[in-house]
Order: sequence, then C-alpha cells, then structure tokens
Amino acid sequence: MLDFLIKKISIIDGSGKKAFIGDIGIKDNKIIIKNLSDYEFKEIINGENKIICPGFIDVHSHDDLSVINDKKVSHNIKQGITTMIVGNCGFGVSPHKSAKIQMSSLYNVDGIQKSWNNFSEYFDLLDNEPPSINIGVLIGHHTIRRHSLDLANKTSPTKEELSTMISIVEEGMEAGCLGLSTGLVYEPGRNAKTEEIISLAKNIKKYNGVYVSHMRNEADRLFDSINETANIGIESEVKVEISHLKTVGKDFWGNSIKALEMIENYSDQGLNINADQYPYTARSTMLKALLINGTFDQNNSSSPMGKSDSSEVLLCSVPGDKELEGKTLEDIQYLYDLPTEETVKKLLSEVSDKILVAAFSMNEKDVQIIMKHPLVMIGTDGIDCGSKPHPRAWGTYPRILEHYVKNNNVITLEQAINKMTLMPAEKFNIKNRGLIKENYFADLVIIDLSNLKDNSTFTNPKNPPDGIDYIFVNGKKSIEKGKELNVFSGMTVKNNV
Ligand SMILES: [Zn+2]
Repeated sequence: MLDFLIKKISIIDGSGKKAFIGDIGIKDNKIIIKNLSDYEFKEIINGENKIICPGFIDVHSHDDLSVINDKKVSHNIKQGITTMIVGNCGFGVSPHKSAKIQMSSLYNVDGIQKSWNNFSEYFDLLDNEPPSINIGVLIGHHTIRRHSLDLANKTSPTKEELSTMISIVEEGMEAGCLGLSTGLVYEPGRNAKTEEIISLAKNIKKYNGVYVSHMRNEADRLFDSINETANIGIESEVKVEISHLKTVGKDFWGNSIKALEMIENYSDQGLNINADQYPYTARSTMLKALLINGTFDQNNSSSPMGKSDSSEVLLCSVPGDKELEGKTLEDIQYLYDLPTEETVKKLLSEVSDKILVAAFSMNEKDVQIIMKHPLVMIGTDGIDCGSKPHPRAWGTYPRILEHYVKNNNVITLEQAINKMTLMPAEKFNIKNRGLIKENYFADLVIIDLSNLKDNSTFTNPKNPPDGIDYIFVNGKKSIEKGKELNVFSGMTVKNNV
C-alpha cells in the first residue's frame, strides 16, 4: 500500500537530466517508481501542470541553535528545503558553552535551555525530538578554538591546545559530522594560520569529510584566499567547499571570472573542490565584523570584507532597538551627525554589539557568472533574526526558480534543481537523498511553476513564496497547498550511515 500516489507530474529528478512526465509513489519514507500499478494507495495527488523534484539541500545554514527552540524552521521548509547543513562559517554547536558564546553574535540564544556535552549528544537530541527537516552538521572552527585556547584570539595554539582541538574534531566526525568549517574573517578563527587549519582538516580525511570555508578575504585578496583554501584541501587530502563565493566591493567586480578559472584549474588537477552561492547582490553579516575588518576605515583603502558606503548598508537586526531595523547606516549617520566609522562604533557600544546588516556589495553580473558555473551549488546562508533579515533566509530557492530560471533564463530548470539537490548530496556524502530514484528517501517538493513567486524582499523579508504546493520529508506530508502541517519527520544525516 502506497501512502501517496502522485500522477502525471513533470519529474525533475535532480541529476540534471531533462524533465519527463511520470508517476511517483511514496511508501513509508521511501520513493517508489517501479511497478506502481501493482500497488493500492491511500491518497492520490494530481500532478498535472506541476513539477516534482527532490527536496532542496541547503549546504549553508546557520540554524544549529535556533532549531533547538524552533523545530518548525518555517523559513527553511516553506521555501522547499528538506535538509539543512549547519555549522557553517566556523560557528559550530560543540563544545556547548563556546557554541553559545560564538553563536550569540548571529542571533539570540538566551532562550535555549537544552544543553549537550558533545556532537554525539547534539545528534541524540535531534533524533529524540526531530525538527521538520533533516539536518547535517559541520564542526565549527571558532567554537573549538574558543574552547581550547587560553586566549581565543592568539595566533598559534600550543601543542596541547591543538591536540584538544583535534580531539573535538575526532569526536565530531566519529559522531557523524560531515566536515569542518572555518570563517576566516571572524573572531577568533581569523587569527589562525593556515597550518593550524591543515592540522585539523587532516583529521576529517578518513571520514571523507569536507573542508568548508568562508574565506579570509572576498575582496582585494580573493585569489590568494582561493589558493589558501585549495591548499588546505590538497595538504590534508580532503574535499573543499568554498562558502558563498562572491567578489565584494566595486573595485573587484568582474573578478568572478578569474576566481572560477582558478577553482576549475584546481578541480582539473584532481582536487574535489566546489563553491556555493546565494542569489543576491547583498550579503549579510555582523556589523562588528565589518568594523573589525576595516570596511569603514577612511585611512585604509583595502579590507578583507571590502569597503561599503553607508547608504549601501541596511540594518537587519538590532537587539534593543527594533525601530532602527530597516534603516540604512546613512540614516543613522544623519541622526548621530557623525562620520560612518564613528556612527558604527556608537551603534555597537551604545545600542548593541550584536547588530546584523545587509550590505549591497556585489554586482549582478558576477552573481550570474558564478551561478552558471557547473562547480557551483546553492546555499542560503540565511539567518531569520530581527524584523528585517536578509531575504535569503526565506527566498533563496524560489528566487532562483522565479527570477533566474523562469524570468531571465540564466540557468535551466534542470540545472537549478541539480545545484539544489544531487550536487550538495554528493558533495557532502548525503546518501540516498537528492535524487528521485527507487528506494531513495522521499524528500520531495511539488511546485506549481506558473504560480511560483518569491515574496521575500528587503522591506518585507519574512514572507514565504507562492507556488510551493506540497513538501514531503521522509515520506511525511509536511506542507500542503503552501500550509505548514507541523509534522516533524526530519532525520539527522550522518557521514557513517
Ligand atoms: Zn559566511
């Protein structure tokens, strides 16, 4: 007996292969395609004029801690995400105490009462009280560094401190983590030398783990950063994923072409290297990180995070003063009557040191060039925090399908789905997902492409899309006609299963 029979639907299987019309069955948590006429079924769904594809795998999530308090993760599931990989940019969940300190710069973690002693216990917690979607976990470099070093921001760990870090990496990989991430513009990870990261990355090799990096510089030294990232992969013999590939700052627009050529060369030489991207010309980060990296420093023309004009910086989340959310830094500057950098310092010291901003720093042409590249997949980097989060938290996948596929033909529908499903699954060792295939997990999305609309904007970001009709997570119907059914059928996704 099938739980669902979906009839006459356009199937985009995730492999990149052209769409074709067919029927799909769901039985328990698996996909059934063969001999469908042999089965009876409980529920039938008419798939005419709709598409079905594997659920999206978000390779760049930051919902590690927020998912503990909010199992619904609505901003994810409502855009078609059925698996998220957390622990990005060096922000990981273990050890717990340093995780809370580290993650508190991204969003409010005060309400999180549950705790865990290691990655294994974090997985147990999720297995016992599953969220709405599947979750894979990366080990975060900042978190283990903050825990292990006497002074988190010093340049080199002692031998003992390094071995403490390595033991946490080993525990994480043994527990089922998918790899190790760094965020080399943020404290404390930015102080680490390349050698330290290689020493850590070597310990994920036997688990086929991925080294994932928010690189040291995405502006004037983007190319050096790509070399550093690739070399870490080569030296430690592990797979490499460059997080949210971009070129920030007007002076460096156009550099995407050479950046992609470099990545391609490393790939041709045998390194397993990819990049991911969110589909916007604005990035989002901590205001404090921009300040530390010299973004507003008038006396220095270079910055690892690029330069930004105050009119291009939008306040997304301002703990303590919601009124400021949605205003630009330029608006605040008028209010304070101070130069930009002084305005930022005053905001951080007098209002909150945990302000998230969006900054319009990229060029649309670069975004499209990166998106088209066959080594690039999709991730959201979403943080649903404050009243005006960057719209990528709610709109990444619908925006690609509506804006870049349907309206502008930048990539084909089949390519887009491949970048959202099978590519991430293969990269991160996620078995039996990311493809519509007999006996694969039934993580599926049914979309009415003609009605698909990305409704998440910078002024009104917390708005789910139209046109995502059904979502199944491990065979359970979780969204019906766009409505959440509050079903919690997510599973942990581990390297060893
Ligand atoms: Zn990042």
